[in-house]
Amino acid sequence: MKSKQIRQTFLEFFENKKHQIVSSAPMVIKNDPTLMFTNAGMNQFKEYFLGNSDPKSNRVTDSQKCLRVSGKHNDLEEVGVDTYHHTMFEMLGNWSFGDYFKKEVISWAWELLTEVYGIDKDCLYVTIFEGDKSENLDRDTEAYDYWKELIAEDRILNGNKADNFWEMGAQGPCGPCSEIHVDIRSKEEKAAVDGATLVNMDHPQVVEIWNLVFMQYNRMADGSLKNLPNQHVDTGMGFERLAMVLQNVQSNYDTDVFTPLIREIETITGHTYGKTTQEDIAIRVIADHLRAVSFSIADGQLPSNNGAGYVIRMILRRAIRYGFTYLGKKEPFIYQLVNTLSKQMGDAFPELKSQKNLILNVIKEEEASFLRTLENGLTLLDSMIAGMKSDGSKTLDGKKAFELNDTYGFPKELTRLILSEQGLEMDEEGFSIALKKQQDDSRKASATETSDWTVLVDDDTQEFIGYDKLEADVRISQYRKVTSKKDGELYQIVFNMTPFYGESGGQTGDKGYLESASGDTVYIVDTKKENGQTVHLTKNLPKEIGGTHKVVVDANQRARTAANHTATHLLHQAMRKILGKHVEQKGSMVRSASLRFDFSHFSKVSPEELVEIENFVNARIREQLSLEENRNNTYDQAIEDGAIGLFGEKYGDVVRTIKFGESNELCGGTHVKNTGDIWHFKITSESAVASGIRRIEAITSDAVKDFFTEQSKSFEEIKAVLKNPTKNPAESIVALQDENASLKKEIEQLLKAKAGNLKGDLIASAKSINGVNFIATKTDLDAKSVKELAFNIEKEVENLFLIIGAANGDKATLTVILSKNLVEEKSLDAGKIVRELGKHIQGGGGGQSHFATAGGKNAAGIDAALAAAEELI
Ligand code: ATP
Ligand code: MG
Repeated sequence: MKSKQIRQTFLEFFENKKHQIVSSAPMVIKNDPTLMFTNAGMNQFKEYFLGNSDPKSNRVTDSQKCLRVSGKHNDLEEVGVDTYHHTMFEMLGNWSFGDYFKKEVISWAWELLTEVYGIDKDCLYVTIFEGDKSENLDRDTEAYDYWKELIAEDRILNGNKADNFWEMGAQGPCGPCSEIHVDIRSKEEKAAVDGATLVNMDHPQVVEIWNLVFMQYNRMADGSLKNLPNQHVDTGMGFERLAMVLQNVQSNYDTDVFTPLIREIETITGHTYGKTTQEDIAIRVIADHLRAVSFSIADGQLPSNNGAGYVIRMILRRAIRYGFTYLGKKEPFIYQLVNTLSKQMGDAFPELKSQKNLILNVIKEEEASFLRTLENGLTLLDSMIAGMKSDGSKTLDGKKAFELNDTYGFPKELTRLILSEQGLEMDEEGFSIALKKQQDDSRKASATETSDWTVLVDDDTQEFIGYDKLEADVRISQYRKVTSKKDGELYQIVFNMTPFYGESGGQTGDKGYLESASGDTVYIVDTKKENGQTVHLTKNLPKEIGGTHKVVVDANQRARTAANHTATHLLHQAMRKILGKHVEQKGSMVRSASLRFDFSHFSKVSPEELVEIENFVNARIREQLSLEENRNNTYDQAIEDGAIGLFGEKYGDVVRTIKFGESNELCGGTHVKNTGDIWHFKITSESAVASGIRRIEAITSDAVKDFFTEQSKSFEEIKAVLKNPTKNPAESIVALQDENASLKKEIEQLLKAKAGNLKGDLIASAKSINGVNFIATKTDLDAKSVKELAFNIEKEVENLFLIIGAANGDKATLTVILSKNLVEEKSLDAGKIVRELGKHIQGGGGGQSHFATAGGKNAAGIDAALAAAEELI
């Protein structure tokens, strides 16, 4: 069965069991402080398990893009080394939100695997949770009883907490689970070793394919378990592993999900898959990581220096490194695979097609820059090795190896490999110590402690009323304390309803205050969204927590933010009109002070284009277009009406559309009622963010006024300084610059003439002492002129001893030139002379034997120096 059909069969099976098919949530999570990437199908439904909001359907199925490279689920080091863990993979899942439970899900899973997909029952094992004393949890006899109706009892195995109690993270929904494992070894192997002994033993042909989680607890901050309001089902089946089973191959990489990529890697690199272990690992790593990185970029997450972007960069670098080390690729090549991936998976994931060029360019540029880093690292390592050889040491200091890795991005494995090729080794322990120290430091710096929610009102879901109101009387439904090094102690408060906008979609959260009935005021310093709730951050709690509180949004900040958000839509519209339809939003930040917009575009936006864009936006402002808001559009209808959505954004079935004239976007942010409220739009900068991504920063309303006030103030200052109010200041400045240039020229000529005159006077002043023509003088010429003068005199006077003292403020220089014959005949040395005479000007110097100079800081000593020179003869 082809992989496409495997996916389709799964979804249809559950659709027939009354499940609604939904689409995958983005793999990169944007509005959840606790999770960077989707690591399981259940992530997007967390808020339903927690009871924060109600699902539209209580039975759902999908195929979810997952990434397991950080946090609780991190498979990165396994990937490529084994044949069944990926960084990015698809998880097929079905869910019950407070609907069916163990009985149904167990029998359906069995039906699908054995009857629909036709997997031999004798290849399957299942596990159940054996219970855990420390958690006070019993053995899952209920699941056992359902399973024994379907499968031989010796194929039902007990599993411990590590394997059979599923948790998403340190806190949150969790529960016991039943896993389904498959044994795909040959008959002979099965006869030799009982499959049951290999379950959960990391055997590449006895692997878990499906996990059925019975979600019924919430893990609290103190580690205890609390019952969730309802019981749920959450299942996840690895799509690539299922394909391996159904396509009768022994590795995920031999399924049609991976073979096209592997064939392409063989073509590009000239290495054949299946020859040596190291090369095979490298090829698998590259095929796997290319997918992870491409899907992330398509989701709007570019490689960068922090957060999710950093993780993506590290994944890509791991692939580059394997290519560099084991496939000998010193030039970018991974980007070429994007074509194959897009062709192969572009139907199921259209973002791979529409974003193809961007993905390709970003990867290519990252490759080129990391390969340069590798080259630099190699040079550095070479010099370390040379050092080791010269002092006979055999082991590279672990700290140095770590520094190479941490500061220069040079991988540890490569360091180890290169050392071993030279019969040297790395101090592994020292490396680990240095690494651990750094990790501890950064953990300490970012550690946050989150207490459990204190729940006061546990009734309905919270209502957002902030599109219409900036004030409301509310009750506190729950609160908790969060302590971090960065922000200190903060309280998170949830109200039964709120006019505060929680940070999302690039728009920052509202600020404002809460006032209790008793008049006690608490400032709300920020507002965020978490698991479908709006969370208000405060430095302290109101004295009385119960009762009604008045909450008020800072109207001025909100108005400025709204102006910037609407302007962002108009800017987006302007760019698509003026630069072309290829312009897509790649990032946006809307604050009260300014807005920032990142977009795909292949070249710098010219000054003329920027003016055109500005004019377009300002024309829409002048047109005074009214806001046309629809909060209850269906997604399909909105798209049909021409609304623009974002890649990598999660949209529900019901969407909100924001229209101003021809601008039409899916958006949850706050906007002005009329474009006239924006007053004016001004671009303040245009720059590059990454290959093919540009950034525009701009301001609106009062900020524009402040900007122009500031500009006009400096302009007035310039005019005042120029004392020339009638003329255009730029012309005045150009005139000044011209004048300055011609004055400079004139001075040079004057200096030359002066030196010329001086030469004649000096030659005439020569005193003959003991057959030496001695000339001494004091001048204020610059160093260059003095040197020229000295050499010109030397050309005309025989047996010359010339000394020139030059004063420039407090600074003094002495220049001595001797005829070359004097140096020999009288054994005089200009260098020695200036060093000796330099004492008078409190300085030192040197030079050749016939020409030397000294500099000092006592100009008053020049006369004494000249007098002393005469004594020398
Ligand atoms: P394993 O023990 O094999 O790492 P797991 O216990 O981490 O699996 P779950 O968290 O239960 O797996 O995820 C559900 C299913 O997703 C698994 O049964 C498996 O089929 C698949 N899966 C998990 N991790 C990966 C991965 N890194 N690559 C591919 N498929 C995976
Ligand atoms: Mg795992």
